[in-house]
Amino acid sequence: MASWEFVVPATPEEAIRAVQSTPGGEAVALAGGTDLLFDLGEGRVAPRSVVSLRKLPWRTLEWRDGALSIGSTLPLRKLETDPELAVRLPALAEAVRAVGGVALRHRATLGGNLGRAAPSSDLLPALLALEAEVELIGASGSRTVPIDQFLRASRQTALHPGELIRSVRIPETRSSAYLWQRVRPANDISQVAVAVAYSRGHQRWRVALGGVPPRAVLVPEAEQALGGSRPSSEAIRVSAERLSAHPALVSDRRATEEYRRHLVGVLLLRAIDRAVREGHEVHP
Ligand SMILES: Cc1cc2nc3c(=O)[nH]c(=O)nc-3n(C[C@H](O)[C@H](O)[C@H](O)COP(=O)(O)OP(=O)(O)OC[C@H]3O[C@@H](n4cnc5c(N)ncnc54)[C@H](O)[C@@H]3O)c2cc1C
Repeated sequence: MASWEFVVPATPEEAIRAVQSTPGGEAVALAGGTDLLFDLGEGRVAPRSVVSLRKLPWRTLEWRDGALSIGSTLPLRKLETDPELAVRLPALAEAVRAVGGVALRHRATLGGNLGRAAPSSDLLPALLALEAEVELIGASGSRTVPIDQFLRASRQTALHPGELIRSVRIPETRSSAYLWQRVRPANDISQVAVAVAYSRGHQRWRVALGGVPPRAVLVPEAEQALGGSRPSSEAIRVSAERLSAHPALVSDRRATEEYRRHLVGVLLLRAIDRAVREGHEVHP
């Protein structure tokens, strides 16, 4: 039977020292444990030590300078119950509510969702559309990586050995939405998901596709078709057509390619409609 050392550092410095890889084997970070404990139990990971992040001062949530900064170990339920989230970042609020059930969200964290980088993640497409930045911290200091560069492939990220995710920063984007389709609404994996956001700073839409292998992706050709903050019906039609043509939309046990291609067009149309209405309430 596999065994590992369990470490509970009290400070970020201690945590960074503890996660440094050593010749004796790897160390893994443990946040809410909703993914990692399964992997340990199934023997999919066999680390030398498991480093709990629960004592670190990273359970933070702060609105500042037109952006939301979320500490990596904040449970998703705390994020979900923030009174401003649904108004200032609707796409993120919808994505957080899509993750498992309430009990799971009391444990699961944003850092764990990023660390796992699963193709089925609900948070990653929303973070892509919202232009999130991920703050990483390691022995040589901290660095900030745009989410699109942080995600590499299925379960692969830009994290270097010995680094931890400290926080995520997301600019306020009221004109945004996240929509998904599942066989069962709760505790299931999305067959496909679409996130959209209009950045007033850059005056452009971002469109992200989720629930597809190998990772959630931005779809620039669908973004370009949309144009300004209030796309015409024709612009949305062209954007939906381009999104439906994305090569990541393939058949697997959850849905056929044909169904997925149809679905993303419908989801995009609804998501843009919702995002324009959310933004319109603030910028009539
Ligand atoms: C029943 C069930 C239903 C689920 N439904 C959904 C769903 O609908 N949508 C969805 O997106 N996900 C779902 N998940 C997946 C899971 O709950 C999320 O991915 C969750 O956000 C993981 O967070 P955690 O804190 O539990 O991570 P953990 O399990 O603690 O860690 C996950 C990975 O991230 C790494 N990690 C954690 N924190 C850090 C950090 N700060 N720095 C560096 N690496 C770190 C760990 O080493 C590990 O590799 C579900 C899981 C279960 C068990």
